[in-house]
Amino acid sequence: MDYNNSNTTIAAIATPEGVGAVGLIRLSGPEAINIADRIFKGKKLSQQKSHSAHLGKILDEQSNTLDEVLATVFVGPHSYTGEHVVEFSCHGSSYLLKEILELLLRQGAVMAKPGEFTQRAFLNGKLDLSQAEAVADLIASESQAAHRLAMSQLKGGIKNEIGELRSQLLNFASLIELELDFAEEDVEFADRTQFKKLLHAALDKIDTLNQSFVLGNAVKNGISTVIAGRPNAGKSTLLNALLEEERAIVSDIAGTTRDTIEEKMNINGVLFRFIDTAGIREAQDQIEAMGVQRTMEKIDESTVLIYVFDVVKTSKEEMWQEVHSLLRPDQKLLVVANKMDLNPYIDYEHFIHNEIHKENIIACSAKNLMNIPYLKEKLYELAIGDQKIQNNSIAINARHRQALEAAAINLKEVLAGLDSHLETDLLAQSIRQALYHLAEISGQISNDEILGNIFGKFCIGK
Ligand code: GDP
Repeated sequence: MDYNNSNTTIAAIATPEGVGAVGLIRLSGPEAINIADRIFKGKKLSQQKSHSAHLGKILDEQSNTLDEVLATVFVGPHSYTGEHVVEFSCHGSSYLLKEILELLLRQGAVMAKPGEFTQRAFLNGKLDLSQAEAVADLIASESQAAHRLAMSQLKGGIKNEIGELRSQLLNFASLIELELDFAEEDVEFADRTQFKKLLHAALDKIDTLNQSFVLGNAVKNGISTVIAGRPNAGKSTLLNALLEEERAIVSDIAGTTRDTIEEKMNINGVLFRFIDTAGIREAQDQIEAMGVQRTMEKIDESTVLIYVFDVVKTSKEEMWQEVHSLLRPDQKLLVVANKMDLNPYIDYEHFIHNEIHKENIIACSAKNLMNIPYLKEKLYELAIGDQKIQNNSIAINARHRQALEAAAINLKEVLAGLDSHLETDLLAQSIRQALYHLAEISGQISNDEILGNIFGKFCIGK
């Protein structure tokens, strides 16, 4: 994908497909205002101040009025992309928006590629690459926590952290490079003890940033939570109780939830993805067998396992045997002792297996909504713990982590090199490599493939 052609003026519909009250068409590039002027009847947009809005009509080549619109003018470089930008707020008919877009294309604009507006913003220095990624995250955010992480990244949270790391290392790198210039004279400009301290601090910082990945990933993508248990244990009823509405099919016939059902829900601002699964038992037919197979795959992929059992029909041994056969080592477990209403004399504590699991077993009646709020609290605690997500919290993504891990390897080479009195030019090489990897995060160093990967995932018009 060619992402470097800013001589063109790009156009796209920025609002989603379908009917809306308003639909937005965006134009950006050197000819944006001139092209807009050719189709806009009202004021001459090229004579207007930046950041001003003007009511007028859009006329086609035959002077037919297509729509009455509001045109907003941004004179470059003071715009989102850094170029001249015009936005038309039109009536939200998808037919009309396409007509206007086609008119703009006939007048010399070219169709924008996915993410091209943001990409131009990046190329024009309006955003660094981590901020551009945050734009995509912000658009995709489905919960308060995801929104907070995206917003803090957009404001420069990651950019600043990496920038600080880089500038400290750059300082030393330049002293080391200077030593290379004076190689004949055997001088040391860079204080080795100081340098080691700095390297340790940098590695600690990278470590902390890397730890933010797991939580960030969970928050952005939602915490996958699988609800498993035998047929008729009450899984679908529990899912409905959690969602507080009738979604999954509740039935008295064992084995009816044949496929997996996924539902999203916010608990304290964090997105959980609940997966109700086909009952685990000897499958009666082929379709059901496929359902069981998929259940096992879903259980394997999820972060939290909620195991539901019928307190009346299940023995402690059976229950734990099943839990142990399902649970992955790093997975979090919540056991729901369900149908407590059927026998209030059962002490659910009887099912506690050992001290480790005491906290994670909850007595419940899915049917009567008993203990459901407590169950939600427990789920949140289990998944997020006390890692509160605040306005300035940052969480790196997989691309950042990869670059940080590569940088950490180089920094460790430098540390080992200092201990073994490695030649200065080899030290310098490793430092340069580490700086290179840090620069990948901000996008100071990038290539078309990386940019294509990032911006290709955006929607058209952003
Ligand atoms: P699944 O196969 O595990 O998804 O089980 P369902 O949610 O379809 O429930 C099976 C049957 O158990 C249905 O008749 C439910 O109404 C009933 N059931 C579920 N939870 C409870 C509960 O807490 N108490 C009682 N008495 N019945 C329940």
